Amino acid sequence: MSTVEQYTELKKKYKAMLEGARRNENILRKFHSFEIQLMDCESLIEFIDTVINQSRTIFNWDHTTLILVDPEYDIQRLFEHSDSDIAENPNLFFIHENTCLNKIYQGLLSPLLTLYDLESHAILFPETQSQPASIALLPLLHKDRLIGSFNIGSDDKNRFDENAGADFLKHLAAVIAVCLDNNLAREHLKYLGLIDNLTGVNNRRFFDQRLMEEISRIRRSGNPSSCLFIDADHFKQINDTYGHQTGDQVLRYIAQVLREQVRQIDVVARYGGEEFTVILLQTAPEKAREIADRIRQQIARQPFIDENSEAIPLTVSIGISTLFADEITDNEAAAARFIEEADQALYTAKNSGRNRTVCYSGDSLSSNDVPDLPEP
Ligand code: GH3
Ligand code: MG
Ligand code: MG
Repeated sequence: MSTVEQYTELKKKYKAMLEGARRNENILRKFHSFEIQLMDCESLIEFIDTVINQSRTIFNWDHTTLILVDPEYDIQRLFEHSDSDIAENPNLFFIHENTCLNKIYQGLLSPLLTLYDLESHAILFPETQSQPASIALLPLLHKDRLIGSFNIGSDDKNRFDENAGADFLKHLAAVIAVCLDNNLAREHLKYLGLIDNLTGVNNRRFFDQRLMEEISRIRRSGNPSSCLFIDADHFKQINDTYGHQTGDQVLRYIAQVLREQVRQIDVVARYGGEEFTVILLQTAPEKAREIADRIRQQIARQPFIDENSEAIPLTVSIGISTLFADEITDNEAAAARFIEEADQALYTAKNSGRNRTVCYSGDSLSSNDVPDLPEP
């Protein structure tokens, strides 16, 4: 080879190296800015969306799925509590134990870049979508334990092979795992702050927040919502007769009945003491009355049986109010009136003999006159 040819060859190699370095620098910059985006997420929902959806656009991946190990359903409960439907995302899965992930990673706790194999990898990608040709699987580790897996797929079988950019992906996996753990911890704290310790339903703080959101929604949609105020009858007597702890059990039981009798989307809260509130979303007065009566009857139908098999007769009184879109001019004032009217209706239910439901309607109150059972 002549000197000129050697020089040309060398120049070509140098150019290729330079291009390679530039490409890597670009990739590095992309990964770096994506990782900062992950760290900046302000909620678990935003974080999950960034991992699954944003990443696909940024890196031009064809498939992305996220599997989270959730043995006690803790994570799913957090999602249920938010009003996001992210848990319905077909690319987010929950598993109860990490056995199947351990089988895939086989102790190799760094990214796995390989051709897609239906038998081994089917659980990582939804059956309903087309299957990738090559995949990069990122194990998410917390204290050396697998807490999930972020799975990337490409329709190009050469995109992920053993040598392609595993260092970037390894770093990304570590960042996702740390951010996931942080977001879960933060969301969990938030959740605890909005839940009543004794009964497990929402607390008043959560109720007040959701109420304001609901008022805006009524305004937007034009559909009314109803509010129930539910108060245990002669509860002091139950405490005095059977003890405070039995009283606590009764409160848990009432909360459970409320949860069972309304839809998942309705908001059940312990408003204080032995008083509960429910917001029945998009529910007109007639339907609210029907639901309130169902709750009342369910509780009055049979006595509550305590730990000592003691049968305790139990009834509740319920006040109902409904808020219509055309009644709202000021959201705060509407919220106050919504509650005030349910409370007034409850007061009437108490004064007219307890174990009954009363609807607030305009200035007049209508009550169901014949309760099923005598009071305790
Ligand atoms: P009414 O039918 O008029 O509602 O009568 P009541 O006895 O239910 O109402 P009152 O307001 O006189 O008493 C409420 C009682 O609820 C008094 C309070 O000690 C009890 N209470 C409040 N919070 C708790 C709690 O967390 N656990 C228990 N066991 N009792 C509670
Ligand atoms: Mg009471
Ligand atoms: Mg009370």
